[in-house]
Amino acid sequence: MHLRLRVPRIVLLTLYDRMPRKEVKFSRNNVFERDEHTCQYCRRRFDRKELNIDHVVPRHRGGATTWENVVCSCLPCNRSKGNRTPEEARMPLLRHPRRPRWRPFVEVQFRHSYENAWRHFLDSSRWRVEMGEV
Ligand SMILES: [Zn+2]
Repeated sequence: MHLRLRVPRIVLLTLYDRMPRKEVKFSRNNVFERDEHTCQYCRRRFDRKELNIDHVVPRHRGGATTWENVVCSCLPCNRSKGNRTPEEARMPLLRHPRRPRWRPFVEVQFRHSYENAWRHFLDSSRWRVEMGEV
């Protein structure tokens, strides 16, 4: 969808406590997104269909199904890790899994002219918050 809107060059809010917050839904696909389709054990990127969700602390050993305990894993790594922790399997994690930060519900495509005028205000707080917060 394309819209044409007249927008002010700069609106500066020094305090605003009603930022729309949106929790990133905990889902298989969002875990893949957070981990950038990269197996957290062998560090290679895969197609979605070749990936699995791995419980860092295995489920039957009390590991929860939460952002903090699941990672993206390729099928061979998933299989070879089995029911062990990364330490036991000697398969260190690429990144410690975390809950991703909320994302703004709108992403603005900046036109060049605006981008320059806004740069000063935007540099310290880019809108796009990386999922997974590395
Ligand atoms: Zn792997």
